[in-house]
Amino acid sequence: MTDIEIYRALPEAERERLGFAAWKHERRQGTHGPDCHRWGSSHYDCLLSEYDKLDSSYGLLEYESVALKKKAERYERIRTLNPREYSELWTRHISTGERFDDLVDAKFAEVRKNTEMQKHRIAEMRR
Ligand SMILES: [Zn+2]
Repeated sequence: MTDIEIYRALPEAERERLGFAAWKHERRQGTHGPDCHRWGSSHYDCLLSEYDKLDSSYGLLEYESVALKKKAERYERIRTLNPREYSELWTRHISTGERFDDLVDAKFAEVRKNTEMQKHRIAEMRR
């Protein structure tokens, strides 16, 4: 039954007392429904609850996006390995049981450290 159908079924005195818009507003004051947090001040607690839901969803998305970024960076690093380097990491993973992701991260931490050391040496030579 739609709101207008419910309204039309009311006693005439009730309809004359309020009019459709005021009746609908009054009806919303006492009930809750989907999106009732948008209905006004009597649904302030519903608005707070909606805020909490959105806030925790946002926190989760932020956490997941950091995790996904890290995974994407690792994938990009793996793509730059030549077949020999890849094979060395994979063989080590198979033979030692060390996590492949950890081996990739360690290899690129080492590469980054060596690059920084080379930059430092070149800077020292130029002085
Ligand atoms: Zn509500």
